Amino acid sequence: MLLLERTKSSKLVMLESLVRRLHPSDSDYAYFKEGYQRQVAGYEGEKWVDREWFDMPNLGCHYLFCNYEFENEHGFSHQIDTVSLTLKYLLILEIKNISGRVDIDEDKHQMIVTRPDGTTKSYANPLDQIRRHAQHLGVLLDQFKFPLPIEGALVFSNPATIIGNVPKNFPIFHSSGLRHFVQRLLKKYHEKLSEKQSAQLSKILLTKLKRQEVNPSFDLSRLRKGVLCGVCDFQVIMTYRGGTWQCMSCGARDKSAILQGLHDYRALIGNKITNKEFREFFGVESMDAASKILSRLELESYGKKRGRYYLIPSNINKK
Ligand SMILES: [Zn+2]
Repeated sequence: MLLLERTKSSKLVMLESLVRRLHPSDSDYAYFKEGYQRQVAGYEGEKWVDREWFDMPNLGCHYLFCNYEFENEHGFSHQIDTVSLTLKYLLILEIKNISGRVDIDEDKHQMIVTRPDGTTKSYANPLDQIRRHAQHLGVLLDQFKFPLPIEGALVFSNPATIIGNVPKNFPIFHSSGLRHFVQRLLKKYHEKLSEKQSAQLSKILLTKLKRQEVNPSFDLSRLRKGVLCGVCDFQVIMTYRGGTWQCMSCGARDKSAILQGLHDYRALIGNKITNKEFREFFGVESMDAASKILSRLELESYGKKRGRYYLIPSNINKK
């Protein structure tokens, strides 16, 4: 049973908005664009591996958590790509989408990636990370007295990745190997939990879920303001006229275009907006028009008169 669906991380959401809004002449544009592309690749890779879970045989009573995040006993955050809870064991997956060749040196605690163009780069050893996740999840299981073994695996989502010299004593494989690996685990262990206990544990894991939020506060002058036209690939600013947003370039009229704008505002500036801030950012001159747009969105609001602010919910562009 899928208990926690895969969602974009708050970092990816922020970078997506940033790449759309940052002036291309900004000195950090290339840096953020690259970070964005890396995050997208990671997210796509994770979704690719997720498909392996559908119709996987013999799983029995089973709970799946994608992008599971929790805080350990010291208050440090753990972000785990996938957690699979069965009656026999708990499995954590670290998923990497890498093009080129990967070598992992346990003695030096490093992962070397050789790109198709021959350049190499060193990264932290992902196995260390998996072990850290396992250790702290183990503390959680002990705390609630669930005697469940924890297994970990490093999964490469890109079939073209060449897995080079890696430790033999740790499960490292392509996503197509996930089924085989899971079947081996199911054979290796006996049932340690009843279905009722595993349902209890799944609920505990959900209550311990704690998403990391990124709180950027970009200087407004670095950003492209306004409601941007989706048809024109967000390159053209729309005008508010006759109760709707219009693109003077392609002629599109879209009442809901403001939702995407507010989504970007939330991701880059914050989740609160006043009438004045709204007018300044979205280029609406009339206070009344701004009030009308904001009240039509039925956002929660707090305060009175000039101090009144509206809360932009995280799902604003899915309304
Ligand atoms: Zn347009």
